[in-house]
Amino acid sequence: MYEGRDGKVASLFMPGEKKWNTTLVRQNFVQEDADAILETRIPQRDVADQVVWVHSSNGAYTAKRAYHFWYESNIGLHATPSCVGWKRIWHLNIPHKIKVFVWRYCRNVVPVRWRLNSRGIRIPITCPMCETDVEHMIHLFYDYSFATECWNHVGLTYDWSQVECAHGWLLQKLTDAKAEELLKICMVLWGIWYWKNKKVWDGKVVTAAFAMDSSFQILAQ
Ligand SMILES: [Zn+2]
Repeated sequence: MYEGRDGKVASLFMPGEKKWNTTLVRQNFVQEDADAILETRIPQRDVADQVVWVHSSNGAYTAKRAYHFWYESNIGLHATPSCVGWKRIWHLNIPHKIKVFVWRYCRNVVPVRWRLNSRGIRIPITCPMCETDVEHMIHLFYDYSFATECWNHVGLTYDWSQVECAHGWLLQKLTDAKAEELLKICMVLWGIWYWKNKKVWDGKVVTAAFAMDSSFQILAQ
C-alpha cells in the first residue's frame, strides 16, 4: 500500500498543483491501479478527502443499508416459496398481472435499477422518482416522500425503519395480514412500480393521491 509523504492523496500531485504526478503514480502502483488513479478527475476546489460508499448517491454509509445490499446480493436471490402465506397471492382478489408482480416481489426479482446494475446492465442507479438515492427495493417502495404519501393515502402506516428486507417484509405480511390489509399492500406496491415506470417511459408525473386512486380503480372494474 502506498504510504506517500503523509499518506494523503494530495501527496501524489505535482508540487503546488492539482495534477497527478504521473511519474510518482507509476512508480508506486501496478499498471492497472495507476491507470485508474490517473483517470480520476481531481476536484479543482479545495475539498477534504473522504471515504464514500458507492451504493449511496450521497456517499453515506449505514450498517442497515449495507446489510440490505448484502442481503439482496446473497440471500435475496435464493428466496424460496416456502412460507405458508405464499399461496395466498394467487387467491387474492386482484388482477392476474398484479399477482405476478407480487410474486416477483416476493421472489426478490423486481428489476430495480440497482439490481440491474449489479447484473452488469449499465444504467443510472439513481431513483427516478426523487433523484436523491439509489433505486433499490426498500428505497423505491418505502423510503422517500412519494412512497410514504402513497402508503399514507390508503391509510397504511408502518415503521419502515424496522424493515431490513423488502420481500421478507411482504412474505411476513402474506403470512399474518388480514385479507383487506394484504390487498391494499399489494395495490400500493404495484401502484408505485407502475407509476415509476410511467415516469421513466412516458415522462408522466402524478401525485401520490392520483397514483393510488387510479391504481385502486382497477379493483372496481
Ligand atoms: Zn427515490
